[in-house]
Amino acid sequence: MRENIEIIAQAESHNIGKPISDARDEAELGARIFEYYAGALSHFGGQTLPVGGGGLDITVREPMGVVAAIVPWNFPFPIACWKAAPALAAGNAVILKPASLSPLTAILLGTLAHEAGLPAGLLQVLPGPGGLIGEALVKHPLIRKVSFTGSTEIGSQVMNAASAGIKRVSLELGGKSPNIVFADADIAAAAASSPMSVFANTGQDCCARSRVFVEESVLEEYLDQFIQSTEKIVVGDPLSEATQIGPLVSEQQRTVSETFVKEARENGRMIRTGGERPLEKGFYYSPTIVTGIEVEDRIWREEVFGPVVCIRPFRDEETMLREVNDSPYGLSGSIWTSDVKRAIRLARAVESGVLGINTNSTVHVEAPFGGFKQSGIGRDLGMSALEGYTELKNIYFG
Ligand code: NAP
Repeated sequence: MRENIEIIAQAESHNIGKPISDARDEAELGARIFEYYAGALSHFGGQTLPVGGGGLDITVREPMGVVAAIVPWNFPFPIACWKAAPALAAGNAVILKPASLSPLTAILLGTLAHEAGLPAGLLQVLPGPGGLIGEALVKHPLIRKVSFTGSTEIGSQVMNAASAGIKRVSLELGGKSPNIVFADADIAAAAASSPMSVFANTGQDCCARSRVFVEESVLEEYLDQFIQSTEKIVVGDPLSEATQIGPLVSEQQRTVSETFVKEARENGRMIRTGGERPLEKGFYYSPTIVTGIEVEDRIWREEVFGPVVCIRPFRDEETMLREVNDSPYGLSGSIWTSDVKRAIRLARAVESGVLGINTNSTVHVEAPFGGFKQSGIGRDLGMSALEGYTELKNIYFG
């Protein structure tokens, strides 16, 4: 993979309009993921348990069999890697189904695995329409586990279809993650880093911090800096080295963002920047900041999956926390404060699988990644992923 970073990156960038520098980072990440699981395996095992009866009780982890990995189009290569690597390391065979919009790097992964000497058949790549190929995989009796990343709607269908065969499922689904900024935080740092925590990958990110809660006393200061940082973001040709944000993946995906923003406008919400097509050619949409939001607004509650952020002030921690948790999702989020006790209190109270304190960086190869509530079941990455691709067997020696 390391010898082919540029080929992988170019394929991804051409396929879905991902900025080339991001595509390179993601190709590199894929290699790191395989490296991590090659090593992690030697630290992954069972336990010796002190049970009654005088015998010896041990647990072992065993492979499941054939795993179906169904992945989306927003981070096609790293997500394919973070499913295939731990599943293969744990001793399973994998059938990888990429999203219809982004098959290229999945096919490349299959080719590279073959060239690297992985025995034939252990990693198969099967592109095709989700409703046909995906569903057939989920229902097939020889598939023991379905590892799915995609929308909550399809995830629910996958879970339903898997239930007949009591298939193991792990689901990484949608999000509407909060970014919580207290007045005692380093406002400049929070405002400088936060725009890319929602606009990176043109907002097509399940972890996008699309609901920003700012303590009222610093709202104007934070907002001014957030707008300034946003207006400096370079939107353009994905193949240009300077580009930070490319187009959306499809016309349909841009229409989703436009429809949310149009509705907000019609309801009298304020578009502080963006809300337009910055370039004629391509499915571009400028990074958009919306204020004056009410908590019932669709744009505040639903996943937009485009470059759109809503910023709202809060007065007291209790009401804010209630609003943060008033969401069917619970994937990611950030808390900005210099008060350690508050950071701990909030980090424990926010219903979310992953949180960053004074940072927006929350996806790490070595640490579990996944959601609470309708953001999913199970965990990718870290040692937790190995647990998700193995059965736990208990053996008692009498
Ligand atoms: P999607 O429409 O749910 O599709 C995901 C995958 O499922 C695709 O490969 C799709 O194939 C396949 N599929 C469609 N119908 C299926 C069916 N009936 N049975 C089995 N598989 C089926 O999601 P997307 O639009 O590609 O991705 C965007 C969503 O993914 C967002 O909601 C985002 O939040 C979520 N996401 C979550 C995470 C996370 O880790 N939590 C990470 C990234 C993305 P086709 O492409 O052929 O339809």
